[in-house]
Amino acid sequence: MKRIEALGVLAGLTERHPVVVTCAATSRELASVRDRDNHLYLLDAMGLVGSVATGLALSVDPSAPKVVGIEGDGSLLMNPNVLPTGGYLAPSNLLLVLLDNGVYGSTGALPTYSARIDLERLAAAAGWTTRRADTPDGLRAAFGELLTVTGPAFLYARIEEGNAQGIEKLLIDPVTITGRFTRWLREVHAVSGADA
Ligand SMILES: [Mg+2]
Repeated sequence: MKRIEALGVLAGLTERHPVVVTCAATSRELASVRDRDNHLYLLDAMGLVGSVATGLALSVDPSAPKVVGIEGDGSLLMNPNVLPTGGYLAPSNLLLVLLDNGVYGSTGALPTYSARIDLERLAAAAGWTTRRADTPDGLRAAFGELLTVTGPAFLYARIEEGNAQGIEKLLIDPVTITGRFTRWLREVHAVSGADA
């Protein structure tokens, strides 16, 4: 399964979910598949999908559609603390999808540690309910199963190395991205409090 195939599946499943997306190729490819106001692209903020998604999940109505994070292996390994933090705080409505291609795909495909560090087991050890997938159909099925989980959920998706070709740069101003995401969140999720 290529990254862009996985993102196509996820885009089809997350129209009503807040989606926090890791930077660089993953954000660009998701935006090329489907660009929506419910996407919070974390441009230049590597390693923070789990942090932002956990904070959001703790802030929104827990009965609303789950907060979905889309993370990469290099990014998760930059800040693996998000796993014990999410497991400890245990929001009921958080689903973190890891797209693991074994490399830093946006910076020359240098290998990450994921060939020898089992990130699904790391998440499970930290208290997340996990599933594994390596095909589009498997990803769709695992996503559906994890939507029924109460507590932090982790979907480990194995993807192929390599970026989709001909993808345009994502040049939306981060202020615009944040503004439209926040508006969507207030309207759809009826977020309470001053800051979404
Ligand atoms: Mg990677």
